Amino acid sequence: MKKIDKCPLCYSNNVEAGVFLHDKAFICSASLEKQPLTQVDVTTVSLAYCEQCGAVFNECFDREKMNKAYKSKSYVVKKILKGQMSNNLTYISGKIVSYISSNMTVMEIGCGDGRLAMEIAGHCKEVITVDPSYASISTDIKIKNIKHYHDYFNEDIMRESGKVDMVIARHLFEHLTGPVDFLNLIKQALTENGVLYLELPNMQEIVSSARYYDIFNDHFGYYSKETLLDFLERFGFSELESISMFCGQHIGLFLQNGSPMEVTNRKAINYNFSALYDQIDKVNDFIADCKGIIGVYGAGAHGVTIYDYMTKKARDNILCYFDGDKSKEGLYIPGTDKKVLARSCENINKCNVIILAISLYEEEVSQKLRGNRFEGTIVKTAKRFERDFVCV
Ligand SMILES: [Zn+2]
Repeated sequence: MKKIDKCPLCYSNNVEAGVFLHDKAFICSASLEKQPLTQVDVTTVSLAYCEQCGAVFNECFDREKMNKAYKSKSYVVKKILKGQMSNNLTYISGKIVSYISSNMTVMEIGCGDGRLAMEIAGHCKEVITVDPSYASISTDIKIKNIKHYHDYFNEDIMRESGKVDMVIARHLFEHLTGPVDFLNLIKQALTENGVLYLELPNMQEIVSSARYYDIFNDHFGYYSKETLLDFLERFGFSELESISMFCGQHIGLFLQNGSPMEVTNRKAINYNFSALYDQIDKVNDFIADCKGIIGVYGAGAHGVTIYDYMTKKARDNILCYFDGDKSKEGLYIPGTDKKVLARSCENINKCNVIILAISLYEEEVSQKLRGNRFEGTIVKTAKRFERDFVCV
């Protein structure tokens, strides 16, 4: 397959190829299987860096394979759980509601299970939701002013919906191979002065924490706030507000449809990709050398991906997985015999060490494990404060 050699944001050819490489990556990190040891398809993730605007993208991205995975029954749609996850959604919906009024139409692209749409439906005239995944919001949803399209966002949907006052795209932009085409459609869909809310992972934070398991095939693009704002301003959006969530791990940008008075020239950020490789080795050596039985907490994209990067020796030391979402219990990490077990006191204490692969909720999960009387070591794997990882 031909590699993508142009920046997806600024179309510059001034691109440094292969700045970070991961062979044999899972096609999709948001899948779990009903059976152990299923056949899984793998691919290569090779990141390229645009020296012009600082965008990072997977030059080997295979869009067809990924699109197939989104529609697969093994694809897990994120459920909103009690605690921090729910608090964060309340915070975001509060922010969104401050930009809308009862006569407005809001469109959410990539709505997942529709929880946010349901939160804001009471504050506007209509919510249009769009999502292609198998388990996305049900079409027989009882809330009258939500209209759902079980599909990818496209021109037909846009024409049928007419102009909307706000577009919400949370954790979608990083999946897109054609961000420019997407924004062109959004520009047409939005009313004059309409608002766009984009939310995505913060590449600057990923690299500074050396959280390599945030780099997986599901995501095509990796951006910093500066890179995005620079691009969006040139595209004719102006910044209304930017927010930061989970200690900088996620960025949220509220943008108005309309060019800013002046475009700020921001310098492209340089990333230290070798820190990612160092951390992979350190975590794998730690797991391989660990005396005792190891469990991994988090069977979402992070948990699946941390396994994906493990050496055989490290993999052999992993007994099982845990997750806060009960619907994942009994399922397997793709291609393995590693099962997600119920988070009971008995199960967690089968392990001497639990590796956290749930970077947004490390504190909360640590406390829960201790509350369940887990007596072993809890390991946080992100590089923080010059420490390679933290054992608590
Ligand atoms: Zn660029």
